[in-house]
Amino acid sequence: NSLWGCDTLAKAEDWLRSQNTPFHLENYVDGLYAQASSGTTHIDSFNPKTGRVFAKVPCTQPGDVDAAIHAAKAAFLSWSKTTRAERSAYLRRVSELIQENRELFAVWESIDQGKTIERARVEVDRAIANFLYFSTFILHQKTAARMIDEEEVLTYEHRSPAGVFALISPWNMPLYLLTWKIAPCLAFGCTAVAKPSEVTSVTAFLLAGVFQKAKTPKGVINIVFGDGPTTGAALVISRLISGVSFTGGTATGVAIRQATAHQINKHLSLELGGKNPTLVFADAFRDGGHRERAIKIASMAAFQNQGEICLCGSRIYVEDSIYDEFVKEFVAYVEKAFIMGKSVGAVASNAHYDKIRLYLRLAEQERAVFRLGGVPKELGVGDGYWIAPVVLTDVPLDSRVMKDEIFGPVATITKFNGEGEAIQLANDSEYGLAAILLTSDGARMRRVSEQLEAGMVWVNGWLQRELGTPFGGMKTSGTGREGGEYSREVFTVVRTVHLPAI
Ligand code: NAD
Repeated sequence: NSLWGCDTLAKAEDWLRSQNTPFHLENYVDGLYAQASSGTTHIDSFNPKTGRVFAKVPCTQPGDVDAAIHAAKAAFLSWSKTTRAERSAYLRRVSELIQENRELFAVWESIDQGKTIERARVEVDRAIANFLYFSTFILHQKTAARMIDEEEVLTYEHRSPAGVFALISPWNMPLYLLTWKIAPCLAFGCTAVAKPSEVTSVTAFLLAGVFQKAKTPKGVINIVFGDGPTTGAALVISRLISGVSFTGGTATGVAIRQATAHQINKHLSLELGGKNPTLVFADAFRDGGHRERAIKIASMAAFQNQGEICLCGSRIYVEDSIYDEFVKEFVAYVEKAFIMGKSVGAVASNAHYDKIRLYLRLAEQERAVFRLGGVPKELGVGDGYWIAPVVLTDVPLDSRVMKDEIFGPVATITKFNGEGEAIQLANDSEYGLAAILLTSDGARMRRVSEQLEAGMVWVNGWLQRELGTPFGGMKTSGTGREGGEYSREVFTVVRTVHLPAI
């Protein structure tokens, strides 16, 4: 189809201009692209940079969701019995095909999500890495462990693929996060019905074409489109679904947990929201050479991808002795380095723009001081969803701006006095996803890191990731860990076998 012809931003923009009607996405079920049933409504998909509708996403109804689940269930019989080498080869082929179409994926991700093309390329590379990583990982995976050879019995631990999974992802890093679920799911011998966010479905639609080209057996991976209440809800409650790997907001995580509570054994991996702290100690700022690094890391963590990364550090806490100089230099740096349309993209949707705007109006009411940026104007028809970075100080600690996940280009800066208060402020959140610590004191690095209530802590860095390490949150930021061995826990079941002596 014509989307595949647009492998440069210029070609895609030309093609969009020439289109009179939006492009209609189709589900991918049992190895084929297929229209959802006739009663299905369509959701508008907007280009956030222009505010124009460019695609129509089917809101797949429960009957069609069931058909996809049955296709995955039928495919599980044979896929779960393939060898690790066979599955590894498929995954490698998928990674190669994404690599061959790297720019195409980056172009559509940027148009669909609003992110810059540079950021989109980074995320496509990560999608490639997701498949490559698990393609290699399973080749080295041990299948049996804890073998105990008693006189009478031989006891061992046996793992097998858990079944059919629902893989549900959000709109902030669409291809990156969906492939972070599909790659391990298929690697460990499970089959899947994946559902990307209705806000950003285009790269998942293209990804289905990659699976088709890789000749992945039909039914192993199915992709259905639609919203949460209709399509997502029908998917997670099906009794044929053995597990749900979900990334998205905490409220949706709670809804999924409630909806599946009676299905005790359903595997749930929930990667949810965050409101992450960045702690800047005076020693990080003063010692030679670290000053610039501290500013760069704190600002990247706050404004990368318009603040639409679950790991963004939107609550910045600064030691009182350097507070004034930090605020001044931070604001100056952000103003220079984060330029709308260049290093900052548009936020993902009209609804998200309105949500961020609402929080900024609240910040005004809560008497926060705008050190940079302001409340964006109300959106008019045809406006792009552009919000320039906002830096706030003097925000009350118990205000909603401080407590809620805004998930946009908004950072608060607050003073702290001493290590104890820094830790207490950092942990003063219902979330516990990530934390960033900027210090040049070696003993403090370890002492503070180990007291932070966060699943991931970065010291003098941000967003580095080794795919074998456990990824996940504490408190309301989620349950379960994914990555390497940890993903194996999600996608396999374990039994103990006792064999009699021969
Ligand atoms: P969301 O929870 O609204 O939607 C996420 C996905 O769930 C979408 O595909 C949506 O259609 C689906 N969904 C909604 N209701 C559902 C239901 N009842 N049953 C099944 N599926 C349902 O989240 P969002 O607004 O798309 O994404 C933003 C959120 O994602 C933020 O809170 C962010 O922190 C979080 N996030 C977390 C991580 C992480 O790794 N912890 C990573 C990225 C984003």
